[in-house]
Amino acid sequence: MTEKIIDGKAVSESVREKIREHIVSSEISPSLAVIIVGDDPASKVYVRNKRTACEKVGIRSQIFELPGEIEESDLLGLLDTLNRCDDVNGILVQMPLPHHISSKKIINAIVPEKDVDAFNPINVGRIVSGDYAFVPCTPAGIIKLLDYYDIPISGKRCVVIGRSDIVGKPLSLLLLHRDATVTVCHSKTRDLNDICREADILISAVGKPRFVTSGMVKDGAVVIDVGINRVDGRLCGDVDFDGVFDKVSMITPVPGGVGPMTVTMLLQNTITAWNIQHSS
Ligand code: NAP
Repeated sequence: MTEKIIDGKAVSESVREKIREHIVSSEISPSLAVIIVGDDPASKVYVRNKRTACEKVGIRSQIFELPGEIEESDLLGLLDTLNRCDDVNGILVQMPLPHHISSKKIINAIVPEKDVDAFNPINVGRIVSGDYAFVPCTPAGIIKLLDYYDIPISGKRCVVIGRSDIVGKPLSLLLLHRDATVTVCHSKTRDLNDICREADILISAVGKPRFVTSGMVKDGAVVIDVGINRVDGRLCGDVDFDGVFDKVSMITPVPGGVGPMTVTMLLQNTITAWNIQHSS
């Protein structure tokens, strides 16, 4: 059973240890500024996890907790200060933001070289062209998992269900840059089951429990479950894990698959930011 499981927790620990060793041996002191607006409980948990992960590998983190009613202009002012501050290498604004603040404006205001989420249009454009330093954390984590387990990507049929800006779209581009043949599906896709059954690597980023069923999976496929859903108080992914298990060659569990990799790749992007800002 275990040889079929893609263990994101173990891979994540191994990558974080390498990051920690790199920081110690190269005597660098990267820092990350995280901004959270309002008191959404889920966002608070994510930010706390990011802070703890930073501390464990030796990245300095500064958390800015701002009231939900803050003016957009004040948030832009803080970003301007952080953009100019030499002691801040990476900047992340926890989403979602309150409705009176334009996320687009805020994302655009982070200078590209500190944009560790890679959401700024300049970094998005670089991903499209294949000439990028930062990759959004979840897609980067998925590619890392595939590589860690020596799962070939080149020439494979990859089907990505979901076309969000943070997962589906950038992931599809990364797979394309690795010479996969990629199909991106969404809520208007016809014959979804038939398309999914062609996939050597099937990735679901939909956000619906038990969305991917056995009839959608080809024998021997690799299945990557990005979904995070809560059913009866328990976390589950998009994939009917037990139902597809006998068919797959490898699969990510939820929890313990893609999730742990996302914060790990944020740490990696913070190191990248430090490197960019210290390259002469
Ligand atoms: P999102 O922005 O809500 O996008 C969902 C995508 O699923 C959309 O493209 C939507 O299509 C598509 N979709 C919805 N119903 C569908 C259907 N019946 N058939 C085919 N496609 C359908 O979600 P997201 O931000 O990408 O996140 C997706 C899931 O991943 C969520 O559960 C989220 O919590 C999880 N997530 C996990 C991590 C992690 O670290 N593990 C990170 C990010 C997100 P349309 O575009 O046509 O609406």
